[in-house]
This record gives sequence, structure tokens and C-alpha cells, in this order.
Amino acid sequence: MAGLWRRLLGLAHRSPAVELGDADWQALLDHLPWVAGLTDSAQTRLRHLIGRFLADKTITPTAGLHLDGEQRRIIAALCCLPVVEYGYHGLHGWSEVIVHPDTFRAHRSHYDEPTGVVTEGEEELAGEVWEHGPVVLSWGDIEADLAEPEAGFLVAVHEIAHKLDLLDGVFDGTPPLPADWHRRWVTDFQSAFDTLVAQVDAGHDTAIDPYAASSPEEFFAVCSEYHFTAPDLLAAALPAVARHLERLYGRSPMHSRLD
Ligand SMILES: [Zn+2]
Repeated sequence: MAGLWRRLLGLAHRSPAVELGDADWQALLDHLPWVAGLTDSAQTRLRHLIGRFLADKTITPTAGLHLDGEQRRIIAALCCLPVVEYGYHGLHGWSEVIVHPDTFRAHRSHYDEPTGVVTEGEEELAGEVWEHGPVVLSWGDIEADLAEPEAGFLVAVHEIAHKLDLLDGVFDGTPPLPADWHRRWVTDFQSAFDTLVAQVDAGHDTAIDPYAASSPEEFFAVCSEYHFTAPDLLAAALPAVARHLERLYGRSPMHSRLD
């Protein structure tokens, strides 16, 4: 019964989605090539998702940063971009985006099971996610992504890919998918990941950022950045991965317009 009341109260507290006004939407089209390049139907869905996101999630600037309305709409748009096909439930289970002015230092400890060694240290981060917790982004890195929209980097998409990965409670580089697609995804991603790791271990140059070789979950997040920023490069380097991501995210807004 208590659960029922909590659910009812939860519903009562949910703010209604705000539909973005025409001028605000136009400003996003003008400033974000990843939005302008979407199909009309994807844009309609994205506009609705952004309104829902702004009503539903808290965007908290920190460390002296101030964010105006347009900056908040840009953050919302970038966080919703990966769920245009998947739907708003892809952003389920968390409620806050914390935004630092620039890259931020985070204290990390890592437990290595085979050796039992805990390594501790400070890291410079452009973004991170906490399971069941916030998405953390650097505004400086978002601006850098905006300055070079086809350079292979899109920090907000990277972090939302981690959130999609975590939806099933397992951080393994695979979001929840229908069973047959899931099986093919795991096979294709594992094979592409193993090839990349072998290239990195052999000291060869790689077509995509070698950071993707650090783990299957980073591989998925980094490839997601390429899908939105450099899809032709991704399709040439990792065709099977590119096809899965096109199915998950929809056609890349940066695809060459020739075909
Ligand atoms: Zn990551």
C-alpha cells in the first residue's frame, strides 16, 4: 500500500513536459549540427524529448559555472540525441546532470581482483556517470565538441551511452536489446574490440581513438561518439559496429548527404 501511495505521489510530482518554443528550437538547429542533420521525423521526436528532459532532470552547474537557458537546452539536446530511436525510457533511473566549467579532477580507486591491489589516484575527466546517480559533464569539453563537430568527440553522447549500457544493471558495453539482436551485437562488438586491442598491443596506429581499447564499455561509448560525429570513418573502420549503432541511434546526422 505504501508503495502505491509513493507511486501516486511520484506521479503527482512529475512536472509536465515543456514543448520548446520555436525560437529556442531554431537556436538549437542553428548551433548544433548534430540536430540540424537529423531527418524531419527524428527532429520532431528530439524536440519533444528535450522538453521532457528539461521538465524531468535537474541541470546543476558547479564550481562557479553559470548556465543560461540556451546552454541548458544544448545540454538537454545532446543528452537526448542518443535516445531519438530508443525512446525516453533510455534515460530512466537518474535525475541530474552536474556540469563543471572544464575538465575536472576525480579521485579514483581501482581494485584489481587477480592481484588484490587497489590503485588510487587523481584523473582528469571530461565526463563521467555514476550508476543510479548523475551524469557529470564538462562545459569546456562540450564547447570543444561544438567547435569541431566532426572530430570524433562528443562527451555528452559518450556518457549517455554509458547510461544506456547501465540500464540492465550490467556495465559491459551492451545496452538492453531484443534477444536475437543482443546475440549478434555481442559477437560483432567482441570481435571488433579484440581486433582493436590486438592493434593497440602491437603498437599499430588505429582508425579510432585507442582509448576505445581500454574496455568493452569504453569501446561502445567511443564508437557512439564516432557514430554522431564521424560516421563514414566508423563505417570504413568497423562496419559491423557501425550498422548496430545506426540501428540503435538512427541514421547519423553527419552522414554525407550524397547517398
Ligand atoms: Zn567512458
